[in-house]
Amino acid sequence: MSKQCVFCDIVAGDSPSVTVAEDDTSLAFMDINPASDGHLLVIPKRHSTDLLDIPAEDLTAVTLSAQRIAEVAVRELGADGVNLLNCCGADAWQTVFHFHLHVIPWYVDKTRDRLTLPWAPTRGRMDTIAELGARLSAAAN
Ligand code: AMP
Ligand code: ZN
Repeated sequence: MSKQCVFCDIVAGDSPSVTVAEDDTSLAFMDINPASDGHLLVIPKRHSTDLLDIPAEDLTAVTLSAQRIAEVAVRELGADGVNLLNCCGADAWQTVFHFHLHVIPWYVDKTRDRLTLPWAPTRGRMDTIAELGARLSAAAN
């Protein structure tokens, strides 16, 4: 439990939420500013700040819950696809500093889906891609 964390308050039952699913480790509830019909958040019950901080066990539980609910969104809401989103760090659009995975159903019918990311893909330079990939690989292995 972290002081002044709105998602810890939701876990504790001190703030309202529309719960979708829960287990011992994770909680899924509806986002109050939905980007699409059925947009929800999956969080660990135990406080972690972000992706760099969350223990593997909690990340596993949250990810498996997100997968289960993504399947339900397709089956029950008729979503045509699902985007999972995690924002890690204020500069990367994180606004609530308790780890969460956004589960955002995607619809062909854009009256149900307002998700746009600030990313218009343009082809990168292969030498730069290869150099950055090599640096990441060397540091990760
Ligand atoms: P992020 O910008 O990735 O940190 O996303 C935070 C998300 O939490 C936003 O989509 C908010 O709409 C959502 N949010 C903030 N407070 C609440 C709340 N009390 N109940 C449900 N969703 C919330
Ligand atoms: Zn918290």
